[in-house]
Amino acid sequence: MSPDDEAFREEVRAWLADHLTGEWAALRGLGGSGSGHEAYEERLAWNRLLAEHGWTCLGWPVEHGGRALSLTQQAIFHEEYARADAPGTVNHLGEQLLGPTLIELGTDEQKARFLPGIKAVDELWCQGYSEPGAGSDLAAVSTRAVLDEAADEWVIDGQKVWTSWAHEADWIFVIARTEPGSSRHHGLSFLLVPLDQDGVEIRPIEQITGGSEFNEVFFSGARTPAGMIVGAPGDGWRVAMALLGFERGVSVLGQQVAFERELDDLIDLARSNGTIDDPVIRDRLAAHSAEFEVMRVNAVRSLTEATPGADNVAKLVWAGWHRRLGELAMEVCGAGALTAASSQIEAVEATYDLDRWQRLFLFSRADTLYGGSDEIQRNILAERVLGLPKEARG
Ligand SMILES: Cc1cc2nc3c(=O)[nH]c(=O)nc-3n(C[C@H](O)[C@H](O)[C@H](O)COP(=O)(O)OP(=O)(O)OC[C@H]3O[C@@H](n4cnc5c(N)ncnc54)[C@H](O)[C@@H]3O)c2cc1C
Repeated sequence: MSPDDEAFREEVRAWLADHLTGEWAALRGLGGSGSGHEAYEERLAWNRLLAEHGWTCLGWPVEHGGRALSLTQQAIFHEEYARADAPGTVNHLGEQLLGPTLIELGTDEQKARFLPGIKAVDELWCQGYSEPGAGSDLAAVSTRAVLDEAADEWVIDGQKVWTSWAHEADWIFVIARTEPGSSRHHGLSFLLVPLDQDGVEIRPIEQITGGSEFNEVFFSGARTPAGMIVGAPGDGWRVAMALLGFERGVSVLGQQVAFERELDDLIDLARSNGTIDDPVIRDRLAAHSAEFEVMRVNAVRSLTEATPGADNVAKLVWAGWHRRLGELAMEVCGAGALTAASSQIEAVEATYDLDRWQRLFLFSRADTLYGGSDEIQRNILAERVLGLPKEARG
């Protein structure tokens, strides 16, 4: 850390200490794993406050409204943010994924139209990639888009699924097939589509946690102007992959700090309920702490070294670690973890109320799926990094 970096750390710390007070103090710790429903509107307002004070889009170039901060300083921000127990933000998809993609591949008009709204957290985005027949095998998407030349608009038909936060979003970025008869990754386009229109229907999917963070999204003659295409028609696969390249960005370091807090809190719980005296639990907590250090090194390595496959290894390691943390939490909680208080919570549309550890356990089952499942990470490592024979494709 240079003196400038240390000064920056102090600046972040001081700002958070000054602002996570009063009404905002109640948001500390909210909106974590599996708890995205918690105080959503308040966290949106907090995210806008961050934006007003220049704490969003830290790595974006200055000409696009960012601060062009170094990787180190962005990491410092995320570390301090997690350390202060500041609430989960709501604009990850716009800020971390679509914004950088538009900066790299969007037209000047698209940058001018969309980047300010993302930066200010005025327009929220969701990701329309997965479909019932296309998840790990994304190139199998069958949602279609046709250019209506008279209206100068794309007309979209098809279905997306597992679309996180579509019910709160204003826009969706969609991979659609625009060249009839094309297959696999050819003939796809990357379209920006407004959600508030008659041709779009959003149906929430209830999760095992009782919440509904993701949705099915149906397009029936949905429309978007012809200029709302990123990259050339038929070249959408390249854009879609560029966007995924931003997925495992610098915010993973903040995630590490959040994981460390969860582990520390679980150790505190084991101390307070006496399970730490059980040699098996004690051993597993110790092993988890040691693995945490390995995971941290992997995360830093994936950001700082151009080692092929480092980010796939990092994803495999953190997803498995976090899922097993959820399992260990249930062991530490004991038999009481099998029951939940009965209640009717409007926000999560559930008839039972889970505590923090139950929520962590259930939601962390998803860690080894989203962002590329474990099996897919291993396939990538085997085929693209180790050069092993490719698996047979059906
Ligand atoms: C919490 C959460 C949020 C999500 N949010 C979004 C979102 O906002 N937008 C979006 O577009 N998608 C989203 N997804 C979807 C996610 O990208 C997919 O779940 C993921 O790509 C896997 O696809 P699938 O669910 O269709 O499973 P499948 O692809 O059907 O996989 C099922 C199982 O088969 C295994 N498998 C598949 N192919 C192979 C293979 N070739 N070799 C070995 N094993 C294989 C997988 O590893 C998995 O275990 C989200 C998912 C989750 C869990």
